[in-house]
Amino acid sequence: MEYGVKTTKTQEFIDITNLINEEIKRQNVQEGIAVVFVPHTTAAVTINENTDPDVTIDIIGALNKVFLVEGDYRHYEGNSHAHIKASLMGSSCTLIIEKGKLKLGTWQGVYFCEFDGPRNRKVYIKVMDTGK
Ligand code: ZN
Repeated sequence: MEYGVKTTKTQEFIDITNLINEEIKRQNVQEGIAVVFVPHTTAAVTINENTDPDVTIDIIGALNKVFLVEGDYRHYEGNSHAHIKASLMGSSCTLIIEKGKLKLGTWQGVYFCEFDGPRNRKVYIKVMDTGK
């Protein structure tokens, strides 16, 4: 299933955990696997803390220190920093579904990572029923 994600900043992390849980509910899967895939070259998906929003801001800040937005890059589009960050964070993640919802750690959330926004983005969510 394809979902739209509207980003509003040049760089930001958007919590998509509920979106994935909705898809799991829609498919009525109790035990299984969810694959989340981001079909973009300057956006990504990652799992991290969902309690203190400063954590995701710190991750973006640290990435910006290593991969300068205005760095010495060759790519004509001028968004190489975003391509590099997207590759590092990764374009997919695989998650466990238990008792009809994602089995995550207490402090974990799944984040859509925007590195070259704001844009209308997409995320693909595939849910597989594995039985018990
Ligand atoms: Zn580019």
